[in-house]
Amino acid sequence: MDISIGLFLIFLFILGTIVGSFLNVVILRHNTGKSLAGRSGCMVCGRSLRFFELIPILSFIVQRGKCNECKSKISLQYPLVEVGTAILFTLSGFFVYNHFGTYDLLLSGIVLIILFMTMSVLVIMTTYDFKHTILPDKYTYSFACLALISSIITSYTPADFLMSLLGGVATALPIFALWFFSKGRAMGFGDVKLSVGIGIFLGIYMGISALWFAFIIGAIYGLVLMLLRKANAKSEVAFGPFLILGFLVVFFTGVGFIEILNAIIFI
Ligand SMILES: [Zn+2]
Repeated sequence: MDISIGLFLIFLFILGTIVGSFLNVVILRHNTGKSLAGRSGCMVCGRSLRFFELIPILSFIVQRGKCNECKSKISLQYPLVEVGTAILFTLSGFFVYNHFGTYDLLLSGIVLIILFMTMSVLVIMTTYDFKHTILPDKYTYSFACLALISSIITSYTPADFLMSLLGGVATALPIFALWFFSKGRAMGFGDVKLSVGIGIFLGIYMGISALWFAFIIGAIYGLVLMLLRKANAKSEVAFGPFLILGFLVVFFTGVGFIEILNAIIFI
């Protein structure tokens, strides 16, 4: 990997923190009727932020997570979303470099932009679902549309495209069954819509693998919460963030559940 690619990835990281701080505003103002324009202010004392207080991550560290004026705590959501977006943008750049290279810059650029949009939607859904246990239609549908576009671009034949559509059905089916038979208690219908997008993006095998990772990560998280006595078996835990985590693991590593099971068997 030459130096220009390294510099490019650093640029993507910085770009990710800036986009991340914008996503924080989108998450905060969703369903509040407020527009996305206008300066951000402290949530407690309402003071508008000065320019240097808007610098992602750094301003949070310099201010030690407190408002300069009223000293009230600034939510950890801000730096987490900024760092998360930065990491996902950098990984996206690395992914495109590995899979598409630099010989067709137009194609690589288009795929990269689609991935940026996809990662942004996923960050919004993760944070929103975590806070409110809701996956708004606007974002699950946007994600499914981005999955369709990416599948059209990367399909060589109509059969490839058909397979990604089947991936959407196959991945959503288990989640749909859980939603249906638990009467919406184990899963929300938003999770079903999200899985459609995941399946179209990944295809049948990788889509099912993403579910597999989501259930394992979710089970570990649930156990830890119960051990820490922060939750019991009846607590409502959003499943969207785990589906998204499962998707990201499979998407960026290219590893499915059979590879993992094989690795476990041969240890
Ligand atoms: Zn304040």
